[in-house]
Amino acid sequence: MLRKGSIAEHKELDDQFALLVSNVVDYAIFGLDPTGVVVTWNEGAQRIKGYRADEIIGRHFSVFYPAEEARNRKPDWELKVAVREGHYAEEGWRRRKDGSRFWASVVITALRDETGRLRGFGKVTRDLTERHKLEEQLNAERDAEAQRLREHASSMAERERAKTEFLNLASHELRGPLTVIRGYNSMLEDGSIPPDQVVSVARLLEAKLAQMDLLIEQMLETARLEHDRLELSRDRFDVRWIAQEQLDIFRPLARGHHFVVDGAREPLVVEGDRSRVATIIANLMDNALKYSPGGGEICVMSGRRGPDVFVSVRDRGIGISPEHMPRMFTRFGRLQTEENMSIAGTGLGLFLCKEIAVRHGGDITVNSRPGVGSDFTLTLPSAR
Ligand code: ADP
Repeated sequence: MLRKGSIAEHKELDDQFALLVSNVVDYAIFGLDPTGVVVTWNEGAQRIKGYRADEIIGRHFSVFYPAEEARNRKPDWELKVAVREGHYAEEGWRRRKDGSRFWASVVITALRDETGRLRGFGKVTRDLTERHKLEEQLNAERDAEAQRLREHASSMAERERAKTEFLNLASHELRGPLTVIRGYNSMLEDGSIPPDQVVSVARLLEAKLAQMDLLIEQMLETARLEHDRLELSRDRFDVRWIAQEQLDIFRPLARGHHFVVDGAREPLVVEGDRSRVATIIANLMDNALKYSPGGGEICVMSGRRGPDVFVSVRDRGIGISPEHMPRMFTRFGRLQTEENMSIAGTGLGLFLCKEIAVRHGGDITVNSRPGVGSDFTLTLPSAR
């Protein structure tokens, strides 16, 4: 039973604690007077907080709190809660004597005498820094995993969106030549094409089929690239003949265009995948025609530049503004401008052309001005 008088009161409080803490080293257990001044101290408290009993007894317990919390009078508030509720519990940062922080689990219990008068507080603190670190590490790992999943989901959604858009664009682009082929076919069927024009119609149909071929080839190449199954054959051939073949195929598609050929006189032999190089030049010609809806000159040049040979296709079409240039060679890199809107395309052509040129040790470069025209150049190393 507690007797009245402050020395006796403290003595009894000390006795209670002494009993409680005798074997405890993992917990800091100490007593506070009603104002928060430390009155008892145990082994565990010294071990966890770093103060010896003679250094801390008589000081206010707010020294255990981070400066910011002490300034905000959080320690006093905790005591108030303990008085009101009987106890106060939390986990939070606390300060050791040397200033270092530790993560503490804290319980403050209000101690009253039998009349209900507040005698002080018992405070039990546990150092959970290691567990807290582990938890934080786990949380960080969980956050990183969640972030990875979010990014994966959004990249899947982006892929899905690009795929849908691609299917729309590809169907649109296939439908164009298909409509023309169907139209001519029915004219051939009902005999409305004069016999002397049948050959030129056949050439036009051939050119339309070549456009469809080009698109199908683009799709297959993209799939091969994605699965890393694009293997180049090694043929020896003269790029001038490839340019000529493609010109002959695409010539019937001219609408107000005229072709100028400025070919080298000497052979321009390269070593590489003949049909893929043909596809690159086909792409450049197809684009030159598509993106010069008003017609005009299309100049196909070939020649030698240092150790390389080149084929360039120049048109007098809508051109490309500098800010659009970086997008042009990317996958699905369609440029959205008013002039482009009505021209069908998938944005795969130049991406593949560049990829294949680079895999041959070459490149594709472009010079272009809006409203003036574009000049695309394929360079490849000459064969040894
Ligand atoms: P697409 O299937 O859209 O033609 P490409 O990869 O061949 O795809 O070209 C990418 C974009 O570059 C096109 O959408 C177009 O805006 C632009 N482009 C390509 N060639 C030309 C050109 N000769 N003149 C103007 N713009 C061009």
